[in-house]
Amino acid sequence: MPGRLQNRVALITGAGSGIGLECSLLFAQEGAHVALVDVNEQAVQKTHALIAERYPNVKSLPIKADVSKEANVKDMVDQAVSSFGRLDIMFNNAGIMHPEDDNALNTEERIWDLTMNINVKGVWWGCKYAILAMRKNPTDESKGLHAGGSIINTASFVALMGAATPQLAYTASKGAVLAMTRELAMVHAREGIRVNAICPGPLKTPLLMDFLNTEEKKQRRLVHLPMGRFGEAIEVARGALFLASDDSSYVTGTDFLVDGGLSSSYVTPL
Ligand code: NAD
Repeated sequence: MPGRLQNRVALITGAGSGIGLECSLLFAQEGAHVALVDVNEQAVQKTHALIAERYPNVKSLPIKADVSKEANVKDMVDQAVSSFGRLDIMFNNAGIMHPEDDNALNTEERIWDLTMNINVKGVWWGCKYAILAMRKNPTDESKGLHAGGSIINTASFVALMGAATPQLAYTASKGAVLAMTRELAMVHAREGIRVNAICPGPLKTPLLMDFLNTEEKKQRRLVHLPMGRFGEAIEVARGALFLASDDSSYVTGTDFLVDGGLSSSYVTPL
């Protein structure tokens, strides 16, 4: 059985951990060639080694890059295209949630700027160079490849809901990702480039679990989760696979929620 991403080329940022790691493995399992990007070189090499071990027929390329730097982003897209010949899927997923990010009164400007540079500017650069590459994608019907491509940007449920446990820079950055995604989806719709945002709920990944480092902090959130548990990175990766594949060929400009019902909830079950 051919995979759902057979012969496609995907670039995934934040591929060394959490959602990016699970997504890299899932896309490889579905037959994509994967360019794996992370600022943490050791982590991205580990993902690369896992793919080589589990999916020996898949081509995988580990790249160290900081998505907040335009030159790094241009270079990572160039490397993916020169190694694999095209770029069909761009998953702008890398992001940070800084432990010193707080409310309007306590958040320092350097934390705000750092968060915006990675979470917003990083997504902008990723979209810019993906669009330039996707415009050149030739159609190859024998391999099921077509012009255009799919861009997925990781936002968050906090772009849609207010939290009384504030992280103002992070929340604002994810709202910007949603707004940017919608506009890019409209601008590039007739070029066959789809642009969607994925909004995970709170997940059991290092990003959140390092922050929720006491049982009390975990319980403060768990009471609001309809399913009574945090999500898993693989559950978000499966949503990203839908947006990456032709299964979502008529989906663009959406805020795709993978949040266990959190954003629909008022009172949760006991
Ligand atoms: P994670 O911390 O497990 O993984 C993030 C990866 O991004 C890390 O490997 C890190 O090295 C990399 N990274 C950080 N800054 C980078 C940079 N400047 N350039 C390149 N790579 C960089 O986090 P995760 O939970 O998998 O989060 C992935 C995305 O999902 C983020 O955008 C995050 O905001 C979002 N998200 C996470 C949750 C959650 O609860 N974990 C919820 C909603 C949204």
